[in-house]
Amino acid sequence: MTLKDNHGRLINYLRLAVTDRCNLRCFYCMPEEGIDWLARKEILTFEEMLRLCALLVKMGIDKIRITGGEPFVRTDIMKLLWSISKLPGLNQLTLTTNGVLTAPLVPELKRMGIQSVNLSMDTLDRNRFFAITRRDELPKVLHTLDALLSHGIDVKLNAVVMGEKNAQDILPLVELTKELPVSVRFIEEMPFNGGDVHTDSLHWNYQRIMALITEKFPAIKKIPDGPFSTSYNYQIPGHQGKVGVIAAYSRTFCGTCNRLRVTPQGMLKTCLYDNGVLNIKEIIRSEKADEKLLAALLHAINHRAKNGWEAEQLRKDAMPVHESMATIGG
Ligand code: SAM
Ligand code: SF4
Repeated sequence: MTLKDNHGRLINYLRLAVTDRCNLRCFYCMPEEGIDWLARKEILTFEEMLRLCALLVKMGIDKIRITGGEPFVRTDIMKLLWSISKLPGLNQLTLTTNGVLTAPLVPELKRMGIQSVNLSMDTLDRNRFFAITRRDELPKVLHTLDALLSHGIDVKLNAVVMGEKNAQDILPLVELTKELPVSVRFIEEMPFNGGDVHTDSLHWNYQRIMALITEKFPAIKKIPDGPFSTSYNYQIPGHQGKVGVIAAYSRTFCGTCNRLRVTPQGMLKTCLYDNGVLNIKEIIRSEKADEKLLAALLHAINHRAKNGWEAEQLRKDAMPVHESMATIGG
């Protein structure tokens, strides 16, 4: 089955955030003291998540990304991953992780059929890693990178560019692509930091990031972007890996956006910038849930905002965003 939205865009990708909790405190995502963590009963159970995934796969979703918070802090997450990986009709199961707890699980992820993982790493410098994430965990993240590559799993390294906090890391991260077959993707910082306001970050938009990279690597070449790519992709001749820039704040990719997001508390977001357009949890905990959910999901997909600007405008509170990315999943 093919699922399309009211603007004719194919919808085939679900990003499911399985928890809002995290073992890091990245300053662009949440305050140092954390956020008001959701109570256990507020969060979809694994049974509910699996049921939702099964329904969405029947409706036409063929790729699911597990994210969070940090997916691996949720107890028994591997059980959920195994169950989702076996859904008939699902072509690709992937995940986004901060890599702190991931390394020992990599062999099992490989056995499960996971072919690609997004690993967040904003710097290669241990002190700056601590300054950004407020935890001294870079060695474990690097260990996860090694484990993924040695198991033949594709790695996309995500780095949020945050003004003066890590602009000096852009070029060393690009250098990494010389020897390693990784895609390093620089992400514009979005305002989902759980409350804090950082204004200088938006000076580092995708044009400025690319200008810096091109100045140092003038031979860098544009390579084709995939059909639903959110990144502009490049390669430096002779380098094994690739470089990408994600204009997450500038929102240049909405025209081909193929994704749905579900938050840990079961809100459906048809745009990263909307306020949640459907309370899945309420429906899935009611009578005749599958029937009602199918109708409600189709309705939401048929009333999707045209782009992130419209979605932001339509947010019920029409206030600046105070959410944390840990409740959205990235
Ligand atoms: N904890 C996992 C991780 O960090 O990879 C998964 C969840 S995290 C919310 C998903 C992605 O969102 C990460 O790559 C992170 O860097 C990115 N992210 C978080 N807050 C962001 C923000 N304010 N702007 C842009 N990207 C952000
Ligand atoms: Fe945790 Fe990921 Fe948010 Fe960092 S970006 S605080 S690792 S959820």
